[in-house]
Amino acid sequence: MVTVHAAWTVTNHEKRYEEKEEELSMSRVYNFSAGPAVLPEEVLKEAAEEMLDYKGCGMSVMEMSHRSKDFQDIIDEAEKDLRELMNIPDNYKVLFVQGGGHVQFAMVPMNLMKNKVGDYIITGQWAKKAYTEAKLFGTANAVASSADRTFSYIPDCSDLPIDENADYVYICLNNTIYGTVYHELPNTKGKTLVADISSCFLSEPIDVSKFGILWGGVQKNVGPAGVAIVIIREDLITEDVLPGTPTMLRYKTYADNDSLFNTPPTYTIYMCGKVFKWLKKMGGLEVMKERNEKKAKILYDFLDESRLFRGTVEKKDRSLMNVPFVTGDEELDALFVKEAKAAGFVNLKGHRTVGGMRASIYNAMPIEGVEALVEFMREFEKKHAK
Ligand code: PMP
Repeated sequence: MVTVHAAWTVTNHEKRYEEKEEELSMSRVYNFSAGPAVLPEEVLKEAAEEMLDYKGCGMSVMEMSHRSKDFQDIIDEAEKDLRELMNIPDNYKVLFVQGGGHVQFAMVPMNLMKNKVGDYIITGQWAKKAYTEAKLFGTANAVASSADRTFSYIPDCSDLPIDENADYVYICLNNTIYGTVYHELPNTKGKTLVADISSCFLSEPIDVSKFGILWGGVQKNVGPAGVAIVIIREDLITEDVLPGTPTMLRYKTYADNDSLFNTPPTYTIYMCGKVFKWLKKMGGLEVMKERNEKKAKILYDFLDESRLFRGTVEKKDRSLMNVPFVTGDEELDALFVKEAKAAGFVNLKGHRTVGGMRASIYNAMPIEGVEALVEFMREFEKKHAK
């Protein structure tokens, strides 16, 4: 009886879902949000299909015990696929950690500051916040900065005044707000390199072996908010953490328990796993890189020739993921954001510290979205360029 009832409900749901499907995809906008951000439509549809009944379990992944075999398979498979996509060497652990980026700002010094010294390269707000947080635990040195020109470039990092006692050198690889990216890694003079890769996670291949820690909040390129994925070289996972470091803020707790010491954000991990599968299906990170370069070029080429809009970043340091631009007139910027929104291009307002506009064009933004945006910008230019 119960089974019959469940089958009826699911069938009915499917029917309603099919009816709504066309309407649903029709009403989706082009979402240029910096994060949480656009996810692949295919992934969202698959998750919707599995919402009520995950692979015949009769329940949603949200309702499932994190100790169940079904969830164990989900997290194991997610890790396996991520390792494959990023070609992560065997001497690195993959940890799924709660608390997002800000918790990593604290976990890095708490776990790595043996000499109580961290060197930071300040290329934007997120690097600065990490630096400020590190000061709670020891000496944080700002060894380079691009604050003098509103973080519109990456400073020369070939010969930095690295502290001989530095436990690590910290960078934010892609600066979400300002739209810059390191095309060359800093010379750390032999010190461990730690990188925040939140806004360029899985956008192109990366040589993991050059880093001690790579961490990224998943809410931009990988999944819904709720997890930071930490890729950490095993020798950096020790008991020797700062005194008073809580259990949940020790990398070792996650490493020793395969990220299941306590209840993890199960649904976020499941969605990340789906995005990893999507990326594999798309052809992996080399293909994503080509695709992202193509998308960014469409926008940058237009900005470079536009009589109204211009990019705010030094060309050599431009990000493939976050593209800030302005008209030079705040009122016109506001009008553009408003009209763009009405036309279905949403979340284009720049960060409050930069103003203007910012288009975040993560993996899941289709090329058609960028083409359509540029077309819209062209029309706006025709009306407003002097
Ligand atoms: N690092 C980068 C590069 C970010 O873009 C952000 C925020 N979007 C953060 C860190 C902070 O992340 P969270 O909001 O998860 O703390």
